[in-house]
This record gives sequence, structure tokens and C-alpha cells, in this order.
Amino acid sequence: MHLIIFGAPGVGKGTQAKMISKNFLIPQVSTGDMLREAVKNETELGKLAQSYMKKGHLVPDDLILKIIKERCLKSDCYSGYILDGFPRTIPQAEGLAQLMIDMQLPPFTLVEVIVPDNIIIERLTGRKTCESCGADYNKLNNPAPADNICTVCGGNITTRQDDNEKTIKNRLNVYREQTTPVKHFYQERGKFISINGNQSVDQVYQSIVNKINQLDESEQTH
Ligand code: AMP
Repeated sequence: MHLIIFGAPGVGKGTQAKMISKNFLIPQVSTGDMLREAVKNETELGKLAQSYMKKGHLVPDDLILKIIKERCLKSDCYSGYILDGFPRTIPQAEGLAQLMIDMQLPPFTLVEVIVPDNIIIERLTGRKTCESCGADYNKLNNPAPADNICTVCGGNITTRQDDNEKTIKNRLNVYREQTTPVKHFYQERGKFISINGNQSVDQVYQSIVNKINQLDESEQTH
């Protein structure tokens, strides 16, 4: 299964990608997580990426395409994967289309998750994230423990540097201007489903699975 989980920052892409990864046994390939790891380890990529990430801007396409190609060639990606946070621009979508041809991959299904902006801002300003495993906590419905030790992996829970109101607004503008065209790219060329993300985590997950199954069934009957 080759999926893209798509939507504005804060719609729950990472949470859903983790659930899909666990239940369908395919890896979650998150460009945001890979970049944060590079920043933490102070690699060349991390040093280049940090200034863009801090402001909520996009990291240049050539750097992103390079890390995606390297990651997707790894053996755990052999029977599929879920892309989280990529592609975010038309050149990235075109790069992925070329990769599909080069690696003879089946078409990706783009799963769009939609949440109103006011809910996104509320979610992201109250979000804390585990530095080690990326688990998300939220003061609204899943508060972090008082000691900020992750209940999933024992890692350190912190607030992401880009989860402040000014940077969140930048990220939403960048999404509107540079990333939404990617949705039309897949609506015209590929497989596309849209989900209401303003429901409980389990309801969103179930909606995604139902719509993927419906898409598979309709393809089999055509
Ligand atoms: P995320 O964790 O997906 O919200 O990504 C956090 C930040 O990493 C973004 O605001 C960008 O600065 C950078 N980033 C992640 N994925 C990409 C991508 N596909 N293209 C460009 N920049 C990205």
C-alpha cells in the first residue's frame, strides 16, 4: 500500500500515519521527523534545514527529494509506505511521480484530512511532542504527564520550536499557497480521498480505512 497523508499542519497527519503504519505494517516516512532528527544530530542537512523550519518556511525541494529517495530505497519500504508531510510543493509531487516511474511503484492514494483553521491553531498551541518517538500530547484531550516523560517510549516531551502562534500562522499560509496545489495534482492524476479530521482520533482513523476499502472495491469492479 502506497499512501500520502495530506493536510495542513495540525490536522493529525502524524497521529493517523502512526496508526496506519502499526495496523497495516508499513513504515511512516515523515519528512518533518527526518528533518528534526537531522537538526538534533547537527548534520549538514540539519544545519541547512533549521533556519527554514524555525520560521515555518519550507526546506528547499532538492534537499527534500534527496532524503525521500534515500529513505524509500530502504528495504522496509519494499511493500509500501505512508508519506507524511511530503509532497508539499508541485516540484516535490513531480519528483515523486518520477520516483514512481524509476522504481516501478503502484499509484499513491492521497488521503486529505480537513480541519478548520481555528481548531488547528487551538490544537497546535496546546501541543507537546515526544523528542524521541514523536508521540503527540494535547492539553485539550490528551495532556502530557506532569513529569513530561513520554508514556509510549520514556522519552522527553517538549513543545516543538515551530508550535508558537506566529510560526503556526506562517505554516498555514505556506500550506495554502504552496501545498494546496498538490491536492489538485492528485485529483487530476491519481487516487484521492477526503476525510473530516474534526472528529475523535479513532473516528478519523476508521473513516480513512473505510474510504480506502471503498476505493479498492470500486477499482475491482471497474
Ligand atoms: P511537519 O513536521 O511535517 O509539520 O514539518 C515541520 C517543518 O519541516 C515544516 O514547517 C518545514 O519547515 C519542514 N518540512 C517538512 N516536510 C517538508 C517538505 N516536504 N518540504 C519542505 N519542508 C518540509
